Amino acid sequence: SKKVDVLGIKFDHTTKTETVNTLKSLIKENKKTFIVTANPEIVMHAQRDPQYKKILQSADYIMPDGIGIVMGAKLLKNPLPERIPGFDLMKDLLNIANKEHYRVFFLGAREDVLNKAIANVNHEYPGIQIAGCHHGFFNENDPEIVDMVKGSNPDMVFVALGFPRQERWISQNSHLFEKGIFMGVGGSFDVLSG
Ligand code: UDP
Repeated sequence: SKKVDVLGIKFDHTTKTETVNTLKSLIKENKKTFIVTANPEIVMHAQRDPQYKKILQSADYIMPDGIGIVMGAKLLKNPLPERIPGFDLMKDLLNIANKEHYRVFFLGAREDVLNKAIANVNHEYPGIQIAGCHHGFFNENDPEIVDMVKGSNPDMVFVALGFPRQERWISQNSHLFEKGIFMGVGGSFDVLSG
């Protein structure tokens, strides 16, 4: 698809509806997909961390999370259609998982927050199969964590470790998976737990 370059980060020129439809088909086809919703902090961090910039460039889709990116793109005379908040995209994916009874893994946040978030997900999206969950305070290179996620055979993996850890974890481990949507979701579990 068409890309819009903002400070070296190539955003997808797309809408949330279009993205959700694309992701629906990708899951049905058992494709592996790495999604980044990047806010201005993420784009700025990538300017001073070339390794992180490479990780972002390896994502399948980069969406503008926040009006700052959409405004930046407009100023650069290469506008983006709309902002796509990570939290909203995650909720749309949870709705799909609910309808299709997909397996979802929740990785990250404090244990008490995570447990509350899972309880709320169970209540609001009873069709979702909770593949598993683990709090976000572990060593990034711990092979037991990725083994646990992989063993749960997830269709979607939401990683809430904050940036840049969440994208780093996805990029270091996604080669071990055959399928699944992988998405860094920042503080979204905290919102889900409320
Ligand atoms: N977090 C985590 N492990 C860490 C650091 C943070 O699981 O080592 C969690 C934290 O509890 C919170 C989320 O990651 O749930 C980060 O949220 P924040 O809003 O700071 O992230 P951002 O949206 O800035 O990426």
